[in-house]
Amino acid sequence: MSAASLRALTESAADPAALRQDLAAAFRICHLLGWSESVGNHFSAAVSEDGARFLLNPRWQHFATIRPEDLLLLDSGDQTVLEGPDAPDASAWCVHGTLHRKKPEAKVILHCHSPYATALSCLRDPTVVPIDNNTARFYGRTAYDLDFGGIADAVEEGERLADSLSDKEVLVMGNHGVTVIGQTVAQAFEDLYFFEKAAQTLILARSTGAPLAVLSDAVAQNTADGWLAYRGMADRHFDFLKSQVPVP
Ligand SMILES: [Zn+2]
Repeated sequence: MSAASLRALTESAADPAALRQDLAAAFRICHLLGWSESVGNHFSAAVSEDGARFLLNPRWQHFATIRPEDLLLLDSGDQTVLEGPDAPDASAWCVHGTLHRKKPEAKVILHCHSPYATALSCLRDPTVVPIDNNTARFYGRTAYDLDFGGIADAVEEGERLADSLSDKEVLVMGNHGVTVIGQTVAQAFEDLYFFEKAAQTLILARSTGAPLAVLSDAVAQNTADGWLAYRGMADRHFDFLKSQVPVP
């Protein structure tokens, strides 16, 4: 991990205000990039070591309007948060709460239906085939949950997604979209950004109908390993993106 990434991790863990600012900015950036969907979808960030307490976006608030102070501070063990006018989306509270509780190392969880990742998830075989730098970035880091069952029971869905994710950082959700986890908002968002780019390249390449020039396992692994030296890009990129979406 680079010094910059380590500093960002330490700062966000030690500074709840910075974590709120980054998570709120992530929603506005998501909309800027065209990945928001009506007033749905959810991002969250753990604020306790065990993942029990976490920040989540308010129910049905448009991503473009989310300010740091709008984020809900919730406890996955406290059902009373579902009462009252400021209650979160019950399904999101349950799924994100279950994921944070089962995977406390996943400090940040981003879920959206970005166009190319969603298109990829709708292929019969949504495997992220390594064909370039960006697709190979996810070689060995991607999990697949292909048991889409409509709007499922939230507890069951949270448990299943956590099990499917296993030790990976990206979960392709079949017939649905993508979920990315990370240590900081910047790191998770950078993976979401590159995953959308990777999915775009793969969908475009597949759409030609010509055979793919698939990298060998050794080259794909070498490329994925090579990305580790560039982890610091996440903070610089996220700083730039934040500058494009001032707090409304
Ligand atoms: Zn979704």
